[in-house]
Amino acid sequence: PRPDHSTTDGGSVAPPTAARGIPLVAVDHLAKSFGAHEVLKDISFTVEPGTVTCVIGPSGSGKTTLLRSLDALEIPDAGVVRVGDCTVDFGEIHPGPKRRLDRRTRELLATLRSKSGMVFQAHNLFAHRTVLQNLLEGPVVVQGEPVAQATERARRLLDEVGLSAHVDKYPFQLSGGQQQRVGIARALALRPQVVLFDEPTSALDPELVGEVLGVMKTLAAEGWTMVVVTHELRFARQVADQVLFIDEGLVVERGTPEQVIGDPQQARTKAFLRRIM
Ligand code: ADP
Repeated sequence: PRPDHSTTDGGSVAPPTAARGIPLVAVDHLAKSFGAHEVLKDISFTVEPGTVTCVIGPSGSGKTTLLRSLDALEIPDAGVVRVGDCTVDFGEIHPGPKRRLDRRTRELLATLRSKSGMVFQAHNLFAHRTVLQNLLEGPVVVQGEPVAQATERARRLLDEVGLSAHVDKYPFQLSGGQQQRVGIARALALRPQVVLFDEPTSALDPELVGEVLGVMKTLAAEGWTMVVVTHELRFARQVADQVLFIDEGLVVERGTPEQVIGDPQQARTKAFLRRIM
């Protein structure tokens, strides 16, 4: 689906406005198995516009699978995901032989995908394209946005993540922290309604973690809606409006950081926090 760019301010890097009081993201009874392994058992939660949700939990508990389901990179077996005005009932999607999906379903999943921008653990930038070209690929090639408009916005985004001096460099010429900041700017270049982060600092050397978390704090303060899978509890305490503790494919505990991290009620949450603090 190609968004209509004619009436939008192509240069703006502000988060999109969303109706207040209505969750921007709603996940209802999501389930996903890989073979006999039930990775997501029954996951439900909502995300209010302009808020940060941090997803914490043990390794292998299904956090990445959940995040990828929001972006339709995984196809859950059951449950409903709504982002903005796009609702996908995964229970009604039945892949054919070789996991083929019919055209209507592919278009629906593409629409869902267009609502969010994903920042991966390792940035996976295009190695043979400059920083600026990396930001233009999605808007221009995939979404059909005019080059001049996409370029103006890309430059502003790179300025915002502190990389205006590096627009014409190639990824290998940047530090890991700079590369990850390009990854964030690239996700924002697609003008998502929600930004998904999958352990964005876990592949970084410790001294580079701060600059990436700093950019994420700025985005949060600007009002971007963010869902962040992270082990950075300090970040979660400082920035999250909501924390989900996930274990064995279930939301074990959900609340403010003060509640979930500061005063956990469930034995499994307590045990997890003791292990990682
Ligand atoms: P987390 O992000 O909490 O560490 P994941 O969502 O990455 O957890 O993985 C949850 C479980 O699902 C793990 O046991 C993982 O091995 C399994 N898993 C994830 N993706 C696949 C896949 N494509 N095929 C088979 N198993 C998978």
